[in-house]
Amino acid sequence: MSPVVEHVTCPFCGCLCDDIAVETEGNEIAKVRFACSSGQGIFKEYDPRPRLPLIDGEEVEWDEAVAEAAATLSAADSPLIYGLSSTASEAQRKAVALADRLGAVIDSTSSVCHGPTGLAMQAVGEPTCSLGEVRDRADLLVFWGCNPDASHLRHFPRFSLTAKGALTPNGRADRTVYVVDVRPTGSSKKADHFLQVEVGSDFELLTTLRLLVKGMEPPAESVGGVPLEQLRELAERMKSCRYGVAFMGMGLTMAPARQLNVAELFTLVAELNEFTRFSVIPMRGHGNVTGADQVLTWTTGYPFAISFARGYPQFSPGEFTAVDMLARHAADAALIIASDPGAHFPAAAAAYLRSIPTIVMDHGPSVVASHAHVLFPTAAYGVDAAGTAYRMDNVPIPLHQVISTGRATDEEILDRIMEAAT
Ligand code: SF4
Repeated sequence: MSPVVEHVTCPFCGCLCDDIAVETEGNEIAKVRFACSSGQGIFKEYDPRPRLPLIDGEEVEWDEAVAEAAATLSAADSPLIYGLSSTASEAQRKAVALADRLGAVIDSTSSVCHGPTGLAMQAVGEPTCSLGEVRDRADLLVFWGCNPDASHLRHFPRFSLTAKGALTPNGRADRTVYVVDVRPTGSSKKADHFLQVEVGSDFELLTTLRLLVKGMEPPAESVGGVPLEQLRELAERMKSCRYGVAFMGMGLTMAPARQLNVAELFTLVAELNEFTRFSVIPMRGHGNVTGADQVLTWTTGYPFAISFARGYPQFSPGEFTAVDMLARHAADAALIIASDPGAHFPAAAAAYLRSIPTIVMDHGPSVVASHAHVLFPTAAYGVDAAGTAYRMDNVPIPLHQVISTGRATDEEILDRIMEAAT
């Protein structure tokens, strides 16, 4: 019988489900149990064959690749380090140290998803809780601008909608669920109430809820396309619930007003604590994008968009964010770790990235890897390397090594580049 590794953590999304069972045959993964379809893919589609690094598409030995990467980054006037969302926190920490050594700009994928959430958190604070508290206590859930039914497939059964906990023994029957979004989604179909807000009106809706919670009546029949009566009902439920939790997504961060939307929601949640217990959790996407924010913050004071060019960390979103650096041609070399800006950045930024020498560390193929000057085929944390990742609720979770391939980790390569960098 093939050996089974139990209690494995799936590193794919911010839920970091740690109840996965993986059956192995030698160095291959034969079967994966309990993971959703996205989680199945990260294990089953992993190519475990060890590969050599490439320089301009030609295989080379590791020493040569490390030396070329270090020389390229050392020679640059304005190197950019970007990505970090699908690697372990041990490697994220090393990436910050390398940025410090090189006088580089370092930015994570947060800057193109939940960057505004980080700004809101720094402006007004984040009244939050763990997903365990949500499962055990929450009797009112509000999903705002997010669709976990499609993006985080086990969020509903493990933590929120149907999860059974100490004070919610009947799961779904013990909860009232709202979805606020600009269009119907899979999540809104599973909710008790769906408020369809007009595009760009989230801030007005949130401000109206703050007024209603404080007992004030706005002089309007509807706000952002939502009848005032429905908002009045939601405000009353928010005040009278036992334990409420709001989950927010990129429907708020990527809409007009961005961080102002998020700050308004965080403020509403903080104010609700005058009446009951209420928390908010951002629905973070990639496996360890939350860890990138954590590590960058506890090492530099800032969550993303940080420059070490002056010898100390400077924070400037819009200036040191990777898209902006590339769009104004302000970087002359790049180190991309566990992400694919070649596929996801605006065309002008992605095109400029192709024109500068780029070092890539990743465990699988990607657009940016296809044009890397130096490509390091590193191990995948949670599959053939162990490490630590932060769940969307900022709880650190161990990632296990389930097969042994002998591939180097991002952390090891970063260490070696640091040693070789001048
Ligand atoms: Fe993996 Fe996310 Fe699916 Fe859980 S919900 S199994 S962490 S992809």
